[in-house]
Amino acid sequence: MAVDNCFDIAVIGAGPAGCAAAITARRLGKTVVIVDRATATHCSVVERVAPATRQYLADWGLIGRIGAPMALECSSVVSAWSPDAPPQVTHAIFDPFGGGWIIERDAFDRMLRHAALQRGATIIQGTVSAIHVHDSDCSFAFDCAGSKRTIQAKQLVLAVGRGTALIRALTVRSHSPEKWVAILGRSRHFDAQWEDDPYLFVEKTESGWMYGMPAPARGVFIGVCLPARLLTASPRRDPLEIWRQAVSCSMIREPRGSDADAQVWCRSMTGCAATEVIGQSWAVVGDTARTVDPLSGLGVAFALESGRRAVEEPGTYAQWIRSFSLQHDASKAALYDNGTR
Ligand SMILES: Cc1cc2nc3c(=O)[nH]c(=O)nc-3n(C[C@H](O)[C@H](O)[C@H](O)COP(=O)(O)OP(=O)(O)OC[C@H]3O[C@@H](n4cnc5c(N)ncnc54)[C@H](O)[C@@H]3O)c2cc1C
Repeated sequence: MAVDNCFDIAVIGAGPAGCAAAITARRLGKTVVIVDRATATHCSVVERVAPATRQYLADWGLIGRIGAPMALECSSVVSAWSPDAPPQVTHAIFDPFGGGWIIERDAFDRMLRHAALQRGATIIQGTVSAIHVHDSDCSFAFDCAGSKRTIQAKQLVLAVGRGTALIRALTVRSHSPEKWVAILGRSRHFDAQWEDDPYLFVEKTESGWMYGMPAPARGVFIGVCLPARLLTASPRRDPLEIWRQAVSCSMIREPRGSDADAQVWCRSMTGCAATEVIGQSWAVVGDTARTVDPLSGLGVAFALESGRRAVEEPGTYAQWIRSFSLQHDASKAALYDNGTR
C-alpha cells in the first residue's frame, strides 16, 4: 500500500475525544494527524457539559473562550421525577467546579479542533473506510476530495463516536438490549424564562424522561427520551407529535407558542461498550470505547478524559475504563431503580 504520510499518532474522528487525544499528543511533542469526515459538525445539538470539564479547558487555555454565543454558565439543575412532589433545584453554587456549561456542540467542537490545530496537529477532511493494524504500527485509507489517501502511524486512536463499523477491525462492541431514542427539538424563539437563569431541567414523562435548556446561540432545546419500540409501534406516531405532547405536559417549563415551530430529529441512545479498548498500536476512546448514559450528562467529560488518558497513560487506560464502567453502571442502576434519576 502506498503511504502518503507518516505520523506518531493518527486520530480518526475530531469530536471531543479525538481532539483531546490530539491535543495531549501534541503536548507530549508527538506528530499528530486527525482525519474527520466533516469540516465541522452540523448537528444543532445543545448539551450540558459537566463541571469536571473545567479542568481540561483550563489546562488547555480555553476557559476564556467559553462564553456566549457558544456557551452559557449553567446556574442549576431543576428535576421533577414525581407529579406529587415539587421539582428539586440543585444550585451550581454547591458544586466545587461550578455548574458547568450549556454549550452549542457545533461551536464547542470547532473550538477544540482549532485548539488542536493551533498546537500543531494536522487536520484532514476524509471518511475513513478501512483500518489495518499491525503490532508496531497501523495504516488506514480514506477518501479525500474524491481521491484515495493512506496514512501510516505508530499509534491509532479511534474516536469516531457511537455508530461505526470501523471498530470491528480492532475489537468488538456489546450493545445494550434496551433500545432508547431521543427526539430532539429546537425552536428558534427566545424564552424569557431563561434570560437571567439558564438552567437545565430534567423530568419524568408518561413514557420516559425529558430534558431541556436554553440554546446559547438562540432558542430552546428540548429532548424527549423514550424506548425505541414506542416510535415503531403500530399505528406509527410522528416524532414531532410525541415531542409536542411531552412538552405540553411539562411540570417545569410551561409550553410556549414558539414550540409549534420546533424542528425535531431523532438520535439513538442505545448504549454500547468495546470489549477491548487498547492494543499495542491502537486505542478506542470516547463513545467508541463506551457510551455514557445521557442522563448522567458525562458524555463529553468522559470523551475528553478518555482521549487524554489513552495517549498520556496507555499502561493504565484499560484499567481506568473498567473502573469507570463499574462505577457508572452502578450509579446508573441505582438512579433508574429507585426512580429518583
Ligand atoms: C440524546 C443524547 C443527549 C446527550 N446529552 C449530553 C449532554 O447533555 N452532555 C454530555 O456531556 N453528553 C451528552 N451526550 C453524549 C455526548 O454527545 C457524547 O458522549 C460525545 O459526543 C462523545 O464524543 P466523541 O468524541 O466520542 O464522539 P462524537 O462527538 O460523536 O465525534 C465523532 C467524530 O468522528 C467523526 N467520524 C465518524 N465516523 C468517521 C469516519 N468513518 N471517518 C472519519 N471521521 C468519522 C464524526 O464526523 C465526528 O466528528 C448525549 C448523547 C445523546 C445520544
